[in-house]
Amino acid sequence: MEAIRQLLEQNRKWAQDREQQDPGCFARQSKSQAPKFLWIGCIDSRMPAEQLTGMEPGDMLVYRNIANQVNPKDTSIMAAIQFAVDALQIDHIVITGHTNCGGISAAIKGQVTDDLQTWLNPLQELNSEYGEELGHCGCHDEKVDHLCEINIKKQVLNVAETEVVQNAWKRGQKLSIHGCIYDVASGELRTMGIHVSGPDGAESFTF
Ligand SMILES: [Zn+2]
Repeated sequence: MEAIRQLLEQNRKWAQDREQQDPGCFARQSKSQAPKFLWIGCIDSRMPAEQLTGMEPGDMLVYRNIANQVNPKDTSIMAAIQFAVDALQIDHIVITGHTNCGGISAAIKGQVTDDLQTWLNPLQELNSEYGEELGHCGCHDEKVDHLCEINIKKQVLNVAETEVVQNAWKRGQKLSIHGCIYDVASGELRTMGIHVSGPDGAESFTF
């Protein structure tokens, strides 16, 4: 119970501090939200999306799973993208992987079972597909970071190819998809130079 008590106490302090810094912020936010970003990142505890980007409550929708994957068969993430794009009309979707990703490492090692195995299977397929390129990596850690970059590009494409995003572009909605990587060793968020802002961009996108 001690650990939970600590969470509750810290929450009370956070709410008090926030209300003091910006009086009425909770009352205003209780009415609606208008975030500009949907962040899709890894579940890893070392990459807290809002903190590392300086976002405040209401600024960003955050969706996290193991190894920041956008699997078209996963209705949870597909529903989140639909909600973000159709209902909230967000402007940007940011796919963010990170260095030293345990999910990617486990996929490469193949020492997983059950649900974790099922979830990591698309990464294992990417690992096989890019086997030759990944074979040039000097060590396991380097391979993990390189597959992480390949995975980010793959997930940007997966988002761009969803029906929801394609339909948004067709009706002229402004929406861009970006690929970023977070370095857990330095705290730096870097763009991977991948930005897709329309169906043509998705078609010409190669890696
Ligand atoms: Zn990770």
